[in-house]
Amino acid sequence: MRLSIKLILLLYVISTSFIWAQAPLKIYCIDVNTGSSTLIISPTNEYVLIDAGMTNYGASTVYPFLQNLGITHLDYTIATHYHEDHIGGMDEVIYALSSFGSNDSILNWCYDRGDSTPPSNNIYTGYASAAGSKRRVIGLDETLNLGGGAFMFCIARNGTVMNGMSVTPSTGENYRSCAFILVYNNFRFYVGGDLTGNPVSGDPDVESKAARVTGDVNVYVANHHGGRNSSITVFLDSLRPEAAIFSQGTIPSNNNHPHQEAIDRLVAHNTYMYQMNDNLTGGVIPTGHGRILNTTASINVNNTYYTINGDTYQIYGFNGDAGCLSILEPHDTITEGSIITPQALVKNYGTSAMSFIVRFKIGEAYNHIKTIIGLVPNDTIIITFDTAWYATRGNYIVTCSTEVQGDVNTNNDRQVGNLTVAFYDNEVSEILSPSQGQILFYGDTIRPKAIVKDNSEYSNPAQVKIYCLIHNNQVIYLDSLTRIYNPGITDTINFPAMSITPVSEGVYQCSVWVVRNNDLMPSNDYKTVQFIIHDPNGIEWNESSPSPVNNQDFRLVTLKLYNISGRLINTQIFYRSVDNILKQPRHWFKNLASGIYFLHITAIPSDHNSAPFTQTKKIVILPNN
Ligand SMILES: [Zn+2]
Repeated sequence: MRLSIKLILLLYVISTSFIWAQAPLKIYCIDVNTGSSTLIISPTNEYVLIDAGMTNYGASTVYPFLQNLGITHLDYTIATHYHEDHIGGMDEVIYALSSFGSNDSILNWCYDRGDSTPPSNNIYTGYASAAGSKRRVIGLDETLNLGGGAFMFCIARNGTVMNGMSVTPSTGENYRSCAFILVYNNFRFYVGGDLTGNPVSGDPDVESKAARVTGDVNVYVANHHGGRNSSITVFLDSLRPEAAIFSQGTIPSNNNHPHQEAIDRLVAHNTYMYQMNDNLTGGVIPTGHGRILNTTASINVNNTYYTINGDTYQIYGFNGDAGCLSILEPHDTITEGSIITPQALVKNYGTSAMSFIVRFKIGEAYNHIKTIIGLVPNDTIIITFDTAWYATRGNYIVTCSTEVQGDVNTNNDRQVGNLTVAFYDNEVSEILSPSQGQILFYGDTIRPKAIVKDNSEYSNPAQVKIYCLIHNNQVIYLDSLTRIYNPGITDTINFPAMSITPVSEGVYQCSVWVVRNNDLMPSNDYKTVQFIIHDPNGIEWNESSPSPVNNQDFRLVTLKLYNISGRLINTQIFYRSVDNILKQPRHWFKNLASGIYFLHITAIPSDHNSAPFTQTKKIVILPNN
């Protein structure tokens, strides 16, 4: 993160007074106009030259630059790739430093991407012959120890990155660029030639694969001079550079680097940009997000801070940074009783593998941790917490946060979400009409009426369907209504009235029930009452009356005796023809108190064809004395 202007100015005063000159590590992005050339001077004065600009710029610009610094040899040269704006001047530098016609000024190696599909032009052959026997293919993850604690390693070459991920070989040259991370204590610097992100003709996306291995850097030399097809978001998400350098020229060309799209993505990553030249036709860095240098970018790296052309940035002592990317479960609305296993997506934004704790909280109801071990830089992991949670109704704030000792950026630690655990329940509280045991006669009117409640909590208004059914052996009434209920409401439902036409006499059931999606308590959804429909002109029957089923041939006769309240007192079943069985009901229904009863008779004829005989009779049991 950038420092306040005040602190920058304070450190600037300090640095310009005495510390600046003593910077142990120096990096120069040499102004070679259109092209790139980066010089690294290690704390022990090892010299690495990465690229050397266009043809003629090696002789006219890079070599004089080295001379000014008193540099008479190079420990390594590196060609990121074989485009002229990178290697055009390299042979000139090698020859200028060396004895006539030799490369003896290169103490170690001239590293490059090797000779797979090289361009067939004299730019390449000129470089290759100057490097001569010093040429070496840079190894992925090969570490160049530059002394004094500075080292650099190659993370990408020929479209393959150091973790083995690679793109399908294509015809482009830019995507084959070698990319490097330079490390000095806690300072990290990226330079990677013209590595591409957004796939373009011949140049596939290597950046998104390299993003998995780069980790956080302080300074980023923008890939491809700030071109729109590089510096893609996922790559910058990994690098998170504080400062970026556009190594580009004054000459308006087809390229017009840097492009606005790349600038905008760097702005989005809060990266301060240094544009080496004003070409009048490239993108524009918004005010406050960078400036045009019109010269070489000079980076002086100390132990705790570094400067870029006088601007000072702090170097943090620890680059460990992990955070929670998102809460996967639970979220939004769930129902009470759900068994929840919290899940979250966690990322290591740091530069080394980390072990740390992740904490998950659901209000005050759940608070558990999960330990992550050895999550590699830039990797994400879905974690599932070991303890499950039985969801109880309520509104909760859900948080997931990483707990990293000395986390350099705590802003990305925590994700917060809202959770509603809703309880859904509608019940039929009571059937008011018909009442239990009510006796209705032909010609009466039934007005079914019931009380329905919505017992839901933390729920939105919901649609509920309410049914009423009246039946004995046959359905004589069925109606339904739809209501929208708010939680907590009590409603009295009046179903349409119905006039009782002559139907079978007998005991009827009136049932009322509710149907609601996700109702969590089905046991209270249904209520029923029994009532009697009677023929006012029907036979009043007593022990001296002739049996209604007398002398007929029935297979099965069921007698159900109800009291005046409609409650079932007794059931008798006869599996045979009956004769005179009803002559003495006291005999079949023992210990009956005197009073009025209703006897419901169902008799199934033996012939299998005739309809069942049903009848309800009022019985008067006289006092037994
Ligand atoms: Zn280039």
